[in-house]
Amino acid sequence: MKQKTKNPASPVKKKKGRVGVRYKLFLYFAVFTVLILTILWLTQVIFLPDIYKTVKLSELRISARALSQRITDENFADEAELLASRGDMCILVLHMLNDDTALEVVSIDTLPFCMIHNTDRNSKFTFYDLARENGGELLRHFRFDGENHMYYSVDEAPEDLSDTNEYILYTILTEKDGETYMFMLNSIISPVSATTRTLNYILIAVSLLLLILSAVFALIISRKFTRPIVSINDSAKQLAAGDYKVRFNEGGYREISELADTLNYAADELGKVDGLRRELIANISHDLRTPLTMIQGYAELMRDIPGENTPENEQIVIDETQRLTSLVNDMLDLSKYESGNQSADFAECNITVIIRDLLTRYNSFCEKDGYRLEFSYDEELTMYTDSTKLVQAVYNLVNNAITYTGPDKIVRVGQYVALGQDGKPLTARFTVKDSGEGIPADKLESIWERYYKVDKVHRRASVGTGLGLSIVKNIAQLLGGSCGVESEIGKGSTFWIELPVNSVG
Ligand code: ADP
Repeated sequence: MKQKTKNPASPVKKKKGRVGVRYKLFLYFAVFTVLILTILWLTQVIFLPDIYKTVKLSELRISARALSQRITDENFADEAELLASRGDMCILVLHMLNDDTALEVVSIDTLPFCMIHNTDRNSKFTFYDLARENGGELLRHFRFDGENHMYYSVDEAPEDLSDTNEYILYTILTEKDGETYMFMLNSIISPVSATTRTLNYILIAVSLLLLILSAVFALIISRKFTRPIVSINDSAKQLAAGDYKVRFNEGGYREISELADTLNYAADELGKVDGLRRELIANISHDLRTPLTMIQGYAELMRDIPGENTPENEQIVIDETQRLTSLVNDMLDLSKYESGNQSADFAECNITVIIRDLLTRYNSFCEKDGYRLEFSYDEELTMYTDSTKLVQAVYNLVNNAITYTGPDKIVRVGQYVALGQDGKPLTARFTVKDSGEGIPADKLESIWERYYKVDKVHRRASVGTGLGLSIVKNIAQLLGGSCGVESEIGKGSTFWIELPVNSVG
C-alpha cells in the first residue's frame, strides 16, 4: 500500500494575530510623537509659569550678587545701568549711614510702577530692617492695585488682581570697607495664562499635524524598509517549497544584502545536496540492481535449465555477490568518514614493512592474471599513524591501478621520505603508478567525488563502486595529510598520498 507523506516543504502560512512591520513602525512613530508632545506641553504649558518665575528670580539674584561685588568699581553706575536694561529691572543702591539716613549711590528706574521708585522713604528703611533681621537678604512678591495706587503682598492681594503683573523685590545687604550698602532690585513677572492658552491651541494643532505626518512617514519608511524583507520572504517560501534555483534579491541596506547572500548560498548548497542525493540514489540503485539482476538471472538459469549449473556460472554469482558486499562495505566506510564518526588509531609502526607485506599478499593473488606489483622506497620508515587506514587507502589505489594499468600490467608503488631542517623525516609520500590510459585533465578533480566514474559504460563490468577515491581522500584528511594525482593521457597516472611522519606527538 502506498503511503502518503506530508510535504514538509509546504509553503508557510501567514501568521494570524501577529502585527506587520508597517503597523508596528507607525505605532512607534505615534508613541514617539506623543512623547515629544507631552514634553512640549509640560514645559510650555503646565510648568511655564513656574519655569518663567524661577528664571526671573535667579536672574535677579545673580544680578544683585554681581552688583554687590562691584560697588567700589569706578564705573559702577554704568554697570548697573547695563544690568538693569538687560534684565528688565529697576535698581536702587543705598549707602546706609545709620538706621534712618542713607545716601543714594545709584538709582535706575526702567519699569512702570516699580516697588522701589513708587514707595516712600520709610518703606525702604522697613525693607532694610527686614533684610537685616533675615540675615542680609529679603525676597518679596507684590501686586499693584492701579485704581487705589496700592501694593499688596501676593498672598493677600484681592482676587481681581490675580491676573495682573507680579512685582518681585529682592533686597540684599553688603558690607564693604566697614560701610553697609543696600541693593534693591525689582523685576516684573507678567501673567502667562493668555500665552499658555494660545500655546495650548497651537500644540493641539501641531499634535494633529504630527500624528498625520508620522502616519505618512511610517507608511513611506515601512514600505521602503519592508520591500526587500517581503521579497526575501517570498523567495524563502519558494525555497521551502523545494525550488533551489530561486534567487534572493539584495535589498538597499547592508543587513538585507548579507541575508540575501547567505540565503543564496544556502539555496545553492541545498541545490547541490539535492542534486547529490538524486545522483546518489540513481547510482546506488543502478549499482545494486545490476549485480542483483545478474545473481537472480544466473540462479534461475541454473535452477531451470539442466546442464547450466556450471562452475563458470556459479563463479559469476559469487563475483556479483562479492561486488555487492564491497559496495555495501564502501558505502558504510564512506558514510562513517563523512559523518565524522571515524577516528584514527595512531600508533608507531614500520610502514615500509606493512606495505611490503600487503603487496606480497596482493602479488600472489593477482600474479595468476599476469599483473605485477613493484615496490620501491628510499628508506625503511617508522612513522606515527593509523597503519590500517593507510593500508586501506594504498589498497584502493593499487586496486584502481590494476584495473586501469596498460598492457605491461605493471603497477609501481613507492614510498619516499622528505627530511625536515633537522635532518629527520618530516613527511612521507606514498605513490601508486600505472601505465594506463591516464585521466583527462578536466576529470582530475571530479574523480575524488563519490560515485564518480570517468567512463561509466565501458569499464562498468570490471570496475568497482566509484567510492574508492573518496575513501582515500577521507583517510588522507583523517591522518592529517593530503592526496592527489598526476596523469598523462596515454602514459598513465600516479596517485599519491602525503602524510606527516609524526602526525601526533
Ligand atoms: P571506482 O570504484 O570506479 O574505481 P574510484 O573512486 O576508485 O571508483 O575511482 C573513480 C574514477 O576515477 C574511476 O571510475 C576511474 O574513472 C578513475 N580512476 C581511478 N583510478 C584511476 C587510474 N589509476 N587510472 C585511470 N582512471 C582512474
